[in-house]
Amino acid sequence: MDFELPESHRILRAAVREFCEREVRPHAKAWDAEERFPREIVPKLAELGLLGIRIPEHFGGAGMDMLAYAVAIEECARIDGSLALTVASHNGLGTGHILAFGSEAQKSKYLSKAASGEWLAAWALTEPGSGSDAAALQTTARREGESWVIRGTKMFITQGSVGGFCVVLARTNFDVPAQQGITAFIVETETPGYSASKKLEKYGCRSSDTVEVTLDDVRVSDAQRLGEVDAGFRDTMKILDGGRISIAAMALGLGRGALQMAIDYAKARSAFGQPIAEFQGIRWMLADAKTQLDAAELLIQRAAWKADRGERYTQEASTAKLFASEAATRVCNDCLQIHGGYGYMREFDIERHLRDVKLCEIGEGTSQVQRLVISKHLLRD
Ligand SMILES: Cc1cc2nc3c(=O)[nH]c(=O)nc-3n(C[C@H](O)[C@H](O)[C@H](O)COP(=O)(O)OP(=O)(O)OC[C@H]3O[C@@H](n4cnc5c(N)ncnc54)[C@H](O)[C@@H]3O)c2cc1C
Repeated sequence: MDFELPESHRILRAAVREFCEREVRPHAKAWDAEERFPREIVPKLAELGLLGIRIPEHFGGAGMDMLAYAVAIEECARIDGSLALTVASHNGLGTGHILAFGSEAQKSKYLSKAASGEWLAAWALTEPGSGSDAAALQTTARREGESWVIRGTKMFITQGSVGGFCVVLARTNFDVPAQQGITAFIVETETPGYSASKKLEKYGCRSSDTVEVTLDDVRVSDAQRLGEVDAGFRDTMKILDGGRISIAAMALGLGRGALQMAIDYAKARSAFGQPIAEFQGIRWMLADAKTQLDAAELLIQRAAWKADRGERYTQEASTAKLFASEAATRVCNDCLQIHGGYGYMREFDIERHLRDVKLCEIGEGTSQVQRLVISKHLLRD
């Protein structure tokens, strides 16, 4: 599919692929087994430009577009879903929210630190009692003079313990419908009262950092408010549009990585006197995988293309995320099947891809939520 990409994006793909082969492939299995966030990779990601891929050059970023962002995430995910999740959530959520809605002062302070890798970004919407129904969040921010005092608990926060700042969504108005009374704040993780209260053990993406975050009367100045008072939920929906493209790209990369493993294995493994790649049952699984992944790629490119033209792309992002995540999960499952019993063993990377890809059907809106978004647009239009 690369023939359709501009040269700058093909160069980016080649650079990220070469980096991941050299710096990530030799370690990804161990990072996953140890459930350890690899801090040592952060300066290298920054050097390659992956921590500021959408940040304008005058803030130290690479200033590239949504399509480039999707290509970079896909390439990371080919080898390591955890790394892709780290890069996606840093760029698309925490940093992306400041890029889209921050003041000039906020951009100049936080975006340069984000691009340089000095501070990773976290973003906290989900709570123990609210995920899909995000507007039901219970965390509050109370105004006290020139400050806000934030109190609550956030759940499943990526980079919540390794990040330098966290964008927190909190309720600021109880007198209006739930979606109209939420505000975003930038909380530096060293601020008294912010704590990563629990490291969470996961099924997949085990070397990305996922924690519960407690906000115990965290005091921030009004200068830390991100966007307008009570407009945080509306802004959040726009942030999630971009985030969904990145999770779709992550699914695509995991699927592509799995397919390559299955092709290599099918050529090398023999049964009944011939390579298993000669069996029609295996060939059809490979062909179906390729077809589904190519279709996912086109949906991702369409959503990114609309985003880069400045058009609304909510429905396209949801369509791409829904299809890519479900297709890639099927693909990774089939590719594990092609490995037979060896696929079930930790020795082979295919089982890690299947565990990692499942996240793509859940994070940044489950498949059910994507169907709600798509059908709402269909019925409205
Ligand atoms: C590894 C990981 C990292 C994450 N990182 C972050 C992060 O950095 N920041 C952050 O804020 N959040 C993060 N999340 C949270 C993630 O976005 C939520 O888990 C997700 O939105 C689903 O919310 P929930 O888990 O509360 O499930 P629930 O909302 O409780 O859903 C449970 C089930 O009910 C279904 N359901 C709910 N409502 C409906 C409906 N109306 N119709 C049909 N079915 C429905 C869901 O699809 C799901 O199958 C992360 C999650 C994971 C697993």
